[in-house]
Amino acid sequence: MRSLNNENKKITDVRSTSGSLQGKNYDESLAVKCINGTFVGKKTENIIAFKGRIKWMMVTTFVCCGLLFLACANNDNNAPDISALDLWLAGKTVTTETVAAYGGIDKCFAADPIPDGIWQRMQGKTFKENPYIGRDDLRHIRALHWDYDNQMHVGEMVCNKQIAERVVNILRQLFDAKYPIERMLLPDVYDADDETQMRDNNSSCFCYRNIAATNNLSKHARGLAIDINTLYNPYIKTLDDGTLLIQPATGEPYCDRSWDFPYKIDHEDLCFRLFTEAGFEWGGDWTTRKDYQHFELIE
Ligand SMILES: [Zn+2]
Repeated sequence: MRSLNNENKKITDVRSTSGSLQGKNYDESLAVKCINGTFVGKKTENIIAFKGRIKWMMVTTFVCCGLLFLACANNDNNAPDISALDLWLAGKTVTTETVAAYGGIDKCFAADPIPDGIWQRMQGKTFKENPYIGRDDLRHIRALHWDYDNQMHVGEMVCNKQIAERVVNILRQLFDAKYPIERMLLPDVYDADDETQMRDNNSSCFCYRNIAATNNLSKHARGLAIDINTLYNPYIKTLDDGTLLIQPATGEPYCDRSWDFPYKIDHEDLCFRLFTEAGFEWGGDWTTRKDYQHFELIE
């Protein structure tokens, strides 16, 4: 038997080969160690080792949970905010990541019955009680559009259900070609005041109103005409007294179509080609007046 040195604090194996230890009966099944001067049995040693393992497992689990939490928190911070598309907040810009998280580009182009919220907004503005057109005749179009800022913008439009699918297809093709459209808001944003929305270069369709400077109902009143990039493609008419009516008034620099400027619609323009191929005529081709922003269904 090896001697024990309790003072040097070392752990010394004192396993007895004779079956006794310091005169006491020694059970061979029990290993005996001296730890810090105290003899401990193998079972006690196992408990200490077990507690040690538990401690390390708890520490490891705690660290892993912490890392997982940080990873999740970090992930949440990076998750795209899709509220602009979920709520369809026209005028907002979105990223490709946002569109992907929302469900993809295809989901961003659609024509649906007029939602309650939109219908409420239209009352007394773009929609007025009339014998010609009602809610069931109209559709709410959701679309994305690019602008010169190279960003995707959320757009919306109300039009007649008769042309809704065609308009969605055209807007999708304009989007795919990155055709610049600055704004696509409902005219209700401008209290359905045409001059105001044109000065803001808004593109839109339905508005229950007359043709400018006439008592005749516009095709916009039935949701069968679309105006695109209105500031840069103004309406021009020579009135009976010889004066020139320009709408919007701020679009006067763009009445001269002989020079190139942003958003200009002409016969080489993609918008012109898509609308005319889909059965629309262009107001820029009219002779008694010019309406360069305007495409209306040929009936
Ligand atoms: Zn128009």
